[in-house]
Amino acid sequence: MIKSEQAGLYIHVPFCLSKCAYCSFYSIAAPNLIPEFIKALLREMAFWKSSCLPLKGFDTIYLGGGTPSLLSGGQIHDLLNAVHSAFAIAPQAEITMEVNPGDVSPEYLRNLRTWGVNRLNIGVQSFDDGILKFLGRRHSAREAVCVSDAARAAGFDNIGLDLIYGVSGQDVRLWIQTLERALSFVPEHLSCYQLSLEAQTPLFGRYRSEGLSLPAESEALDFFFATSHRLAEAGYRHYEVSNFARGNSFRSRHNMKYWRHIPYLGLGPSAHSFCAGRRWWNTADVAAYIQNLSEGKTPVWQSEELSAEQLALEALFLGLRTQDGIDLEQYQALHGVDLLTAKKQTLGQLVENGLVEIRDGRLSPTLSGLAVADSLALI
Ligand code: SF4
Repeated sequence: MIKSEQAGLYIHVPFCLSKCAYCSFYSIAAPNLIPEFIKALLREMAFWKSSCLPLKGFDTIYLGGGTPSLLSGGQIHDLLNAVHSAFAIAPQAEITMEVNPGDVSPEYLRNLRTWGVNRLNIGVQSFDDGILKFLGRRHSAREAVCVSDAARAAGFDNIGLDLIYGVSGQDVRLWIQTLERALSFVPEHLSCYQLSLEAQTPLFGRYRSEGLSLPAESEALDFFFATSHRLAEAGYRHYEVSNFARGNSFRSRHNMKYWRHIPYLGLGPSAHSFCAGRRWWNTADVAAYIQNLSEGKTPVWQSEELSAEQLALEALFLGLRTQDGIDLEQYQALHGVDLLTAKKQTLGQLVENGLVEIRDGRLSPTLSGLAVADSLALI
């Protein structure tokens, strides 16, 4: 861990009004459970506050899901107050909330801003109604436009839009149209994910039964490079495989903790935590989560102790997904491995193939390397 960095706090709100066809995140369509869930969440905060876990101070809070914007303004307000009384939150903390187009009014957004939410992540996914329908999203392109405008009007100066590309029937030209529409809002942050098909999702079944396919490798690379080049032209830094920021200060400080092995505490059903080489995660069942906490039991379902070798591999894997790459001296100090010596031959080949570069004490992926980041980790 880099000592000067504080941990991140993640809160998982596991409710959605309906499931998107591609989604494998844990959420259920049972908003009637929200009041009991919030009570359980407050109990979980008290549980960790009184534990001996050295995670009591945070400089990022991330309300994700599920659909956090299904919580009423009052519930969000209560939740943030509870977080501030349970933990030490840095004065300049980044406080992000995910919102879904169609759920939020201008007044709701203004209230969020007043209560300290200073970064909004909007699940736009597409500005094409046909694609939104195909993905099983509840909202329209028009609602995505409205919420993006309303977020600005509410005073948010750090807005991220999530987009998906590589949907059946969408070529690079059509995708770039959605990207241009997104750019017209001048968001501070863009996450552009290639559609992936997770087993057990309706979309996985549909692709199989209708003989649809994801973009072939070469087409996927076309999407990737077209996105990166267009966003570079527009002044965005491609700082992680799927993430772009209008300058370093707009990178997601919270998500960067995941990529840099900084500790984080996850609250809520299915939330994951990481600290001191140990990872643990809560039960992915809202009812069990509520019941366990009401009986004074831990919500933690499972945990794993990462070996020194696993930590070193993970740090390599995660670091090579970011444009910053890996600080070689720090890596050696933390993991006892001098990468330049231990991986001399492989790194030489990767440099020759233009996939990584070694400069100023850092090992970083090039843009071509970022495009194949998953395989780079196998070095
Ligand atoms: S809104 Fe988000 S979490 Fe909910 S089903 Fe859709 S993709 Fe999944």
